[in-house]
Amino acid sequence: MTTSEELPTICPRCDDHDIRVLTVSPVPGAWTMFSCHTCFYSWRTTEPSYATDPATYPAVFKIDPKTIPDMPLFPSVPDPRK
Ligand SMILES: [Zn+2]
Repeated sequence: MTTSEELPTICPRCDDHDIRVLTVSPVPGAWTMFSCHTCFYSWRTTEPSYATDPATYPAVFKIDPKTIPDMPLFPSVPDPRK
């Protein structure tokens, strides 16, 4: 877990560095929410390390930023039934 004062330097999901503060707790210092502007993953400082730490984020859910442009925007809509 990171403290609310630290801006992470690496995204847990895509390992990119474009991390910004998304929002903060209405209770000062309770938590901070960060967002990656490369893969749009977001996380709160109070989440466990598997959601906040690039080293322990599940490998199966990691994203290579180079593959993002080729990802579908939405699930495809099936053809209408006949
Ligand atoms: Zn990311």
